[in-house]
Amino acid sequence: MKRILSILLLGLPMTAFAQIPQMSNDDVHKYDEKNASYYRNEIVIPGFDGYKALKCDFHIHTVFSDGSVWPNIRVQEAWMEGLDAIAMTDHIEYRPHKSIVVSDHNESFNIAKREGDKLGIIVIKGSEITRSKPLGHLNALFIKDANALDVKDPLEAIDIAEAQGAYIIWNHPGWPDNKSTFYDVHGELIKAGKIDAYEAFNYMESYPLTFDWYSEYNIAPMANTDIHGTTSGDYAVDCNWKRPMTLVFAKENTEASIREALEAKRTLAFFNGNLVGNKEYLSKLIDAALEVKAVGDRIAVTNNSDITYRMTSANALYLFPAGKTVLIKKPAEELKVENCFWGHNKNLTYKFK
Ligand SMILES: [Zn+2]
Ligand SMILES: [Zn+2]
Repeated sequence: MKRILSILLLGLPMTAFAQIPQMSNDDVHKYDEKNASYYRNEIVIPGFDGYKALKCDFHIHTVFSDGSVWPNIRVQEAWMEGLDAIAMTDHIEYRPHKSIVVSDHNESFNIAKREGDKLGIIVIKGSEITRSKPLGHLNALFIKDANALDVKDPLEAIDIAEAQGAYIIWNHPGWPDNKSTFYDVHGELIKAGKIDAYEAFNYMESYPLTFDWYSEYNIAPMANTDIHGTTSGDYAVDCNWKRPMTLVFAKENTEASIREALEAKRTLAFFNGNLVGNKEYLSKLIDAALEVKAVGDRIAVTNNSDITYRMTSANALYLFPAGKTVLIKKPAEELKVENCFWGHNKNLTYKFK
């Protein structure tokens, strides 16, 4: 009897996911494909000041340039991994599959957009202008016709994108030569209002020297995957290792609201547990996440977000794991937040009120 009971109990969690076959005979048991396909991993990050924290990836490839998957799969990945918005940014100049996947530069977006409309994922039209350093690679988002960017002179491509109302990201400043060099051309483009954002994190890379750029040049910090393979394979998302994402603090979960927030530079770059960007946004994000209650002579700190915070004093480590409550003696001093950066080697400080 004991043995039967334990089998029953073990079986319980399984039944929560199991489905009743729609059609059964002795040859085939068929499950409902529509319901079996998708489970979404929600990412809990409370916003602030009436803004939602939208989880976005503004740099994505498909078979229409040098990626390995069809565009609709990119949207399904984003949905399953808890994102709100993605931008399709296949390379303009580098399309190794173009003799097999014959199409124009707009098609990957068109396919992804149809899937996005089905799943409720915002899909932004973009392209990657792909040149050697010093210029490097730039993503043009919110464009109307990607084909028009296919011109010889990259500066002309930027102007064409700008004329279409583009928002331009300077991609992976530290790739491919392991140097985050800020060249004259970037200074000129920023001055002319033709670079709006940059990647502090790209794929598996972090560019610490660039952590000051958002304030020095008034451009928005971002973290994007630049994914070419599958996100689940590259980031082992089932093991709680999250893909890079740009947190956008927007009024609504709409493309227009994302655009407004990007123009206002209300973003933080988030990857591998680390956040980079504006000090004020970092502080407000922690305030929105941590709930503090007095318990006896101690405080109970509940972290209501999926971001774990690591703080230190001169001789103590305070860990506030995602979704957990920690009971501690209230730290009297200001703590250094080890995973929040408002500049290169500049950590946020936090004091419990
Ligand atoms: Zn690139
Ligand atoms: Zn790319």
